[in-house]
Amino acid sequence: MSVFSTDILKNMDAYVPGEQPQDKSYIKLNTNEFPFEPSDKVKAVVTSEKAADLRLYSDPTCAVLKKAIAENYGLKAENVFCGNGSDEVLALSFLSFCKKEDTVVFPDISYGFYPVFASFFGLDYKEIPLKEDFSIDENDYLSDCGTVYIANPNAPTGLTLSTEQIEKILINNKNHIVVIDEAYCDFSDCTAIGLIKKYNNLLVVRTFSKSYALAGARIGFALGDSEIIADLEKAKYSFNPYNLNRLSIEIGAAAISDREYFEKTVAIIKENRQALTDGLIKLGFTVLPSGSNFVFAKKDGEDGEQLYLKLKENGILVRHFSKERIKDYLRITVGTKEQNDALLNALGRIVK
Ligand code: PMP
Repeated sequence: MSVFSTDILKNMDAYVPGEQPQDKSYIKLNTNEFPFEPSDKVKAVVTSEKAADLRLYSDPTCAVLKKAIAENYGLKAENVFCGNGSDEVLALSFLSFCKKEDTVVFPDISYGFYPVFASFFGLDYKEIPLKEDFSIDENDYLSDCGTVYIANPNAPTGLTLSTEQIEKILINNKNHIVVIDEAYCDFSDCTAIGLIKKYNNLLVVRTFSKSYALAGARIGFALGDSEIIADLEKAKYSFNPYNLNRLSIEIGAAAISDREYFEKTVAIIKENRQALTDGLIKLGFTVLPSGSNFVFAKKDGEDGEQLYLKLKENGILVRHFSKERIKDYLRITVGTKEQNDALLNALGRIVK
């Protein structure tokens, strides 16, 4: 650290993203990217004329993108907030809604950015242990003591809470925002979006990084009551008004409007997830039921870190976490059939 850094920066650990090797020598199943290219309609946006227009600032209201998102979910543009990836949306939600006198609440095993944001913004937080089977007990989140963050499906477990369980949390946290991070929700059957009109304390956070094959475009959004969306807008205009670039605004709108491509490709990932799960079980792995585009798996008698390292030697990247309770698990992104077969073949050679 430099002698100039603040105490907060000195005393916190930054988020560690998954490895992003910049060559294509790995089969990359470590950061839950989509294995297919974005829709042709998205690719058609990126013309040299559009590149030339980059001399101009982007639309700070993200009007084209908000309209496309609102239409897709049967909401109004005033219910939509757009961010530079859902990480930025989450960060702005911490700044807008988490009060110093409160305690932010989230599960002990969940998206690793929640404790980082809380530390960075100087907030108290409480990590609530998952149950023995790694599921979230909604009854642990009824204290109304601060903003609640729940990833649904949860990451890295892939397990999903029902809409009824989410509603129970909303009803019991009337004085605080409940953020449901639905980064992986398109690969499951449940979403809290239907509850937005009923609960003004619900913020649903989504991303184009996974199911729309746009991790590199950095587009995230939040849906909620118009008053809390206006709060996020105020925070954004106090931080980075042109947070989405000109291309990403149009790319996002094109992607969400191409329902046919979205449905076709997400259906393939769900099929591939089943085949990958079956293949892992055949190799003796325990696989948690996943509502996302990754599976969380371990094999008794095998050390998770060793498996991760041996797969890497074989040119396959998966994600390993060193946290005690999950250190023998691997989080494996669902890839194409060929990628998944390569992973299963490699594991077949590696495991005892
Ligand atoms: N939430 C969860 C649960 C995630 O796993 C991720 C991906 N790392 C994000 C949010 C952030 O995704 P992005 O910033 O690419 O939208």
